[in-house]
Amino acid sequence: MSWEAVIGLETHVELSTRSKMFCGCPARFDAPPNTNVCPVCLGLPGALPVPNREAINRIMQIGLALNCSVTPGPVFHRKNYFYADLPKNYQISQFDLPVCVDGYLDVGGDHGGRVRIERVHQEEDTGKSTHVGGDGRITAAEYSLLDFNRSGVPLVEIVTRPDIRSASQARAYGQELRLLVEALGVSDVRLEEGSIRFDANVSVRPGSDAPLGTKVEIKNMNSFRSLERAVAYEIQRQTARLAMGESIVMETRHWDEEAGVTRGGRTKEGSSDYRYFPDPDLVPMDIDRSWADEMARLLPELPSQRRSRYESMGIDPAQAGTLAVADHSLRELFEEAVQAGAEPVQSGNWVTGEVVAELRRSGQSSPEGARLRGPDLARLLKMVEGGELSRSAAREVLAGVMAGEGSPEEVATARDLLQISDTSVLEAAVDAVLASHPAEFDRLAAGERKLIGFFVGQVMRRTRGKADPKRASSLIRDRAGL
Ligand code: ADP
Ligand code: ZN
Ligand code: MG
Repeated sequence: MSWEAVIGLETHVELSTRSKMFCGCPARFDAPPNTNVCPVCLGLPGALPVPNREAINRIMQIGLALNCSVTPGPVFHRKNYFYADLPKNYQISQFDLPVCVDGYLDVGGDHGGRVRIERVHQEEDTGKSTHVGGDGRITAAEYSLLDFNRSGVPLVEIVTRPDIRSASQARAYGQELRLLVEALGVSDVRLEEGSIRFDANVSVRPGSDAPLGTKVEIKNMNSFRSLERAVAYEIQRQTARLAMGESIVMETRHWDEEAGVTRGGRTKEGSSDYRYFPDPDLVPMDIDRSWADEMARLLPELPSQRRSRYESMGIDPAQAGTLAVADHSLRELFEEAVQAGAEPVQSGNWVTGEVVAELRRSGQSSPEGARLRGPDLARLLKMVEGGELSRSAAREVLAGVMAGEGSPEEVATARDLLQISDTSVLEAAVDAVLASHPAEFDRLAAGERKLIGFFVGQVMRRTRGKADPKRASSLIRDRAGL
């Protein structure tokens, strides 16, 4: 029997707004513990929340970038549960009327494809517990410390439909989503600091026509590697159980990075356990058309759109993918070169190849720092195309331009790299080479064509790379009567 894995991801993204979701405290938690707090985010009785408009803007931008529609009257709900670092005993979240619904994300690469988005909704972060003593886990701790600086930091949760079919696709989705959020500039997107966290819902079924199996939710992975490993492990665990005729228990599991396994924890709450109800302190939002339209207008070009634009220029998908996520300054260099008339495929190859190599070699961090502009690159490519520079000479010219030695022409002239354009000079070089290897020339003239390469090499050496190898080759063939 062939088992099919079904995966749906829930992703929390911390928004990099200046203030928290419902109060004016700074939304930063690198300050000394419990210094960015107030009655609202400490959950003191009687404190009243006021929504952060900029956070709503950003949630809408994420939703719109994910091709969702905006709900005209989204509602804030209370999601009730107790946790020591949740002082209100509820989280303000959203239930049946989230800010955005029904979109999709096109994931690039070999493991890509379209993943439908179910909803994009507002949430707020909890405080942070540190368990002291024992092994750092709550069960063995002597005492726990609470820091509420993170309490109330705006979060957005992005929920997919169960469209993902493998661990590598889950990873690819996570990476694409991170690129998108990064392009929007609405979050720090630093996974290692927890500004993006993934929960993975995994089930397995006997073939793609079978109904969905019982799912298990794996909580809180904060690296692409853990996401992929955890999902792969869980697929294999469930498949093995089902193959033995056992059933899957619906539960929440945790990923143990060191042991490389998921472990069962609490049984999964159903949404009714949370006793969701509309927060009486907050009225439904009124998102009119013009507000949503304004957010749509603010969207920059997204990585997937950029990828297809590059592909439409004739660049192959893999290269378009690399270029679309290249450093901002590299992309700008590419765009400017093309605008200055350079051929897109060549420009892309040079930017992601030679330019990156030269930056690395010279220890520079960006083409801007290296004073390389798009028009320079366009000019350089034209010189190669027009036979003024060999490829290897062009690499040297590039290095010179990036080192601030001047324009491509100036560097080529100063370093004496321009190809020989004067036919009589080239003929003289060819004749001199042929004359100094009479035996080989006789063999060539007798039809041993593989010697052409040898003679071209000699001509290149004699001219220190400045001969055009094509012209040299045809001259050599003429002389040998081939
Ligand atoms: P819950 O009630 O547990 O929150 P939802 O139906 O809201 O479940 O779905 C939560 C996430 O789980 C979504 O990303 C959804 O795509 C995914 N999901 C739902 N059913 C399955 C399933 N059978 N297998 C894998 N993922 C699933
Ligand atoms: Zn506060
Ligand atoms: Mg749900």
